[in-house]
Amino acid sequence: MSTIIYPSPIFGPVHSRRLGISLGINLMPADGKVCTFDCIYCECGFNKDFRPTLPRPTRQQVATALEATLQQMQHEGQLPDVLTFAGNGEPTAHPHFAEIISDTIRLRNQYCPNAKVSVLSNATLLHREAVFNAFCKLTTTSRSSTPCHPSTSASLTVPQVPTTSGQSLSDSKPSTAMSSYRPCL
Ligand code: SF4
Repeated sequence: MSTIIYPSPIFGPVHSRRLGISLGINLMPADGKVCTFDCIYCECGFNKDFRPTLPRPTRQQVATALEATLQQMQHEGQLPDVLTFAGNGEPTAHPHFAEIISDTIRLRNQYCPNAKVSVLSNATLLHREAVFNAFCKLTTTSRSSTPCHPSTSASLTVPQVPTTSGQSLSDSKPSTAMSSYRPCL
């Protein structure tokens, strides 16, 4: 499987059998991957092999680029069925994820009120109050169907996030650390 590093902050639209016309929103840098997991099947490769040199897009850059793309799609008469947060890693790790969700819903309501807003997430940061509250505003979320057994899941996802004790999950006993974590793609 070839590695894909997506443009940022907007990519597509892509035509999905499941979602329809999906416009991608990538909150990671345009030249690398940033994820709390390192799934062995990730289409973006491993974190260590694709360290970005560019910064993440700012909240303003995301809103400006999204509005420009929606205006272009409106002009062409083909608006998206879904605005999908995806791309080079875990979107909820952006420090302004919650504010960007609010901006996106505002622009969705203005340009394509029938479209859904979807986030492809591994849910590792759902314990953050701002992230949780942002998810509550969404119409669609997606998680993967990776095997439920913790040891199998840990070996496939290779978690990168620290536990509350500061210990890396990859150093933890999978049976306790991984029970609620799933990859996204
Ligand atoms: S959670 Fe998703 S983006 Fe992150 S490593 Fe796994 S497949 Fe890749």
